Order: sequence, then C-alpha cells, then structure tokens
Amino acid sequence: MSTEIERIVIAGAGQAGVQAALSLRIEGFAGKIALVGDEAFLPYQRPPLSKAYLKGSVTCDALQIAKPALLAERNIDLHLGEAVSGIDREKKCLLLAQGKALPYDRLILATGTRSRPLSIPGANLPGVVMLRTVTDADRLARLLGGARQIAIIGGGFIGLEFAAVARELDKQVIVIEASSRVMMRAVSPEISNFFEKTHRDKGATVICNEGVSEIVSENNQLKGIRLASGKEFPADLVMIGVGALPNCGIAEAAGLAVEDGILVNDALQTSDPHIFAIGDCCRVGADGGRYLTRIESVQNATDQGRHAAYVIMKAPSPYKAVPWFWSDQYEYKLQMAGLIFEADTQIIKGSPADGKFSVFSFKSGVFIGSESVNSPLDHVLTRKALNENIALSPDYLSDATVSIKQAIEAATAT
Ligand code: FAD
Repeated sequence: MSTEIERIVIAGAGQAGVQAALSLRIEGFAGKIALVGDEAFLPYQRPPLSKAYLKGSVTCDALQIAKPALLAERNIDLHLGEAVSGIDREKKCLLLAQGKALPYDRLILATGTRSRPLSIPGANLPGVVMLRTVTDADRLARLLGGARQIAIIGGGFIGLEFAAVARELDKQVIVIEASSRVMMRAVSPEISNFFEKTHRDKGATVICNEGVSEIVSENNQLKGIRLASGKEFPADLVMIGVGALPNCGIAEAAGLAVEDGILVNDALQTSDPHIFAIGDCCRVGADGGRYLTRIESVQNATDQGRHAAYVIMKAPSPYKAVPWFWSDQYEYKLQMAGLIFEADTQIIKGSPADGKFSVFSFKSGVFIGSESVNSPLDHVLTRKALNENIALSPDYLSDATVSIKQAIEAATAT
C-alpha cells in the first residue's frame, strides 16, 4: 500500500498529529511528512492545563509532546502558527491560510476540538474564561491569582479539575451543573456521587439540575451569575466548561462525511480513502468499530495516530483499542477503562468512604468497563481484561470476598 506514497501531510499538530508523524517513521515511511498546526507553540499536552500547569507546578516546556530535536531528527517538517484553510481534494493539496499549498498523497486530519461556547448574556465579559489551550491556561492562571469568588459553569472533568485547583488555593468555588449529576456523560452514578461529595467536603458548593441564564455585570465589570431559577451568586471569575465541539469545518467544506466529528471507517479512513481522520475530531461510524463514538482522550488520540500510520504503511485493519481516561481531583485519581454508558449491572469493590474503590460495569452479563478511584491495580487489570476479551462473571465478582484479580484468574482458568 505504501509504495506510491511519497508525501504525507498532517493537519493539526496536537497529541494525535504528532503521534501519527512519529509512528509513520516507526512504520518505515521515508518520504516527506509535513505537520501543520495553527498554534504558535511546540505541540503540547493538554491534560496538565487543568491540573499541574494551572497550579504552576510544571512549566510550558514540560508540556511538549515531543522534543524539537526528536521531530527534526525524524525529518518531520513542522509548520507552526499556520492555519489550514481548506483541502483541494482534486489536486490533493492542503491549503494554508497564508497562501501555501501542501501537496499530499495521504492527508491525516487531526484538528481536535474547541471549547463549546455558551450563548448566554455576559459570556464575553472580561473575567469569563474557557480552558482549551495553553494561552487560555495562562490567562486563567493570571486571573486566578487575584480572584476570590469563582463560579464554574459545567460539572464535567475540566470544570471539576479546575474547581479542585481553585479550592486548593482557598478560593470560594461554586459549580453549576445542568444535568442531575456531575460528569454524567462519562461516569456511573457512584462515581458522580463520590466526586460531588468530595467537592462539597472540600468546601465547594455544587448545584445540579440548574442552568445559568446570565453572567451578570455592572459597567462591564463581572459581578456574578444568575441561574434560570433566578438565584444569583457573586463571582469575580467565571469559568465555562460545557464540553467541546469537533473541528470538522474544513472536512465538511471539502465534502467529507461529517456527523458529530469527521466520520471514518474502522480503518480511520474518511469518505475519501486518501484522507484519514484521528483523535478528538473524528468519529468511527462504520460497522466493525468496537467503540462507535467520538472519544476525547489522550489514549484515543495516540492510539489512532499509531493506527493510521499502520494502515497507511501496512494494510487496512480495524481500530479496536480499548478507551481509557483519567482525571485528577484533589488527592483522588479517577481511572476509567472501556465505555460504561450502556451498563445494566454495576458492582462496587473497595470503599468509597475510604476513597479507594472501583466500579465494574456489565451489559447483559458482558464486562464493558471499570472506573477506579485511587486503585491503579484494578484499572490495569481491567484494561487487560477488556483488551483480551476475558469473560468476567458478574455473579462471581459480586461476591464481596472476590477481587478483580481473582475474577480474572477464574475467567482465564476455564
Ligand atoms: P488536540 O491535541 O487538541 O490537537 C489538535 C490541534 O489541531 C490543535 O493544536 C488545534 O489548534 C489544531 N487545529 C485545529 N484546527 C486547525 C486548523 N484549521 N489548522 C491548523 N491547525 C488546526 N484527556 C485525557 O485523556 N486525560 C485528561 O486528564 C485530560 N485532561 C484534559 C484537560 C484539558 C484542559 C483539556 C483541554 C483536554 C484534556 N484531555 C484529557 C483531552 C485531551 O487533551 C485530548 O483528547 C487530546 O489532546 C486530543 O488530541 P488531538 O490531537 O485529537 O487534539
């Protein structure tokens, strides 16, 4: 498959794009690789932006995904601070806003997501921030220093991680979540309850089932937030964390199939077989994909980067990696493996009261995922079980004396 390929262009120099570039070299690609990103920074990791970087415990250099020397040594041609403006599919060229055109034999779209805007009055006031880029994080860190009362709109991962950082700095924090529980889209009720209680115990106010209708100001000066119910809370810093939208405008304008992400088959090819899409911006929508959803995580971005390189250089094969994710809030590390939305049975092991437990999820008797709080071994073992399709028995695991390790051993012994 690789013989006629001389030029590969990657749009988006984030976690997925960089991984794809490096993996192409690992797979033996000797032709030209151009990696184009609209941010002026060397490609960086986002997870620390809501954690260690915001606290000031790591520097910007420590966020780099790959050292510049490594990218140079692998002969990856970096175009930073250059936005992609379009794709000429007929001429097979990626068009840059500054007027350049980069010809390709294969194109990989890795454009990630952007923060979902919230269209309520006051959303553009000074002192209202979203968190996606290192520029956002620098601004947030500056504002955080002088802030006393912080309102966070959205009780998802980023909002709650920021809430933890702000409470650790002894700021007053209120989190408003429109759903009935925090992190509802991604975690089980047990995990939502644990983290909601943790945030309250640490001194934050958490209000669920309430929407923010307005960010209130006086003389363009931020004053607070008003809820749909009419209640008002003072704030001198508001963080909006209501999710992300995939960057698929360029793909759509080029006529590629797009539906909550750039649609790809299970070999990560878009509706144009010369164009691949990977990471946060894509959704595996074809039959055969094990996880038919758009996933926003470092693991998904890097595994898809590796997989696209493999498919381009070797042969089309289905992407089947088991998704996993983590979140750090206060002294708790939450680690998740698999996707648990469709669970009908959940078994808890360990003790939420001691801050060390796991929730194991099953659908129709089939093990589909785990969520572990300060229980890294449970996480590692369940990832292995999912990767190896080990048929765990919910009945056996529900015995309080049986650990996940024993349940795996029992399942593999038969
Ligand atoms: P990105 O890393 O976002 O890279 C996409 C790049 O493409 C960006 O640089 C973007 O500017 C660029 N781009 C977009 N459009 C264009 C264009 N037209 N022209 C040129 N360039 C373009 N994941 C975890 O697994 N664990 C965590 O704890 C975690 N924490 C997070 C905390 C924060 C604050 C954020 C924002 C994300 C977090 N994530 C976490 C998610 C994780 O960072 C993403 O899933 C991952 O970065 C996705 O990689 P990607 O390459 O698809 O997109």
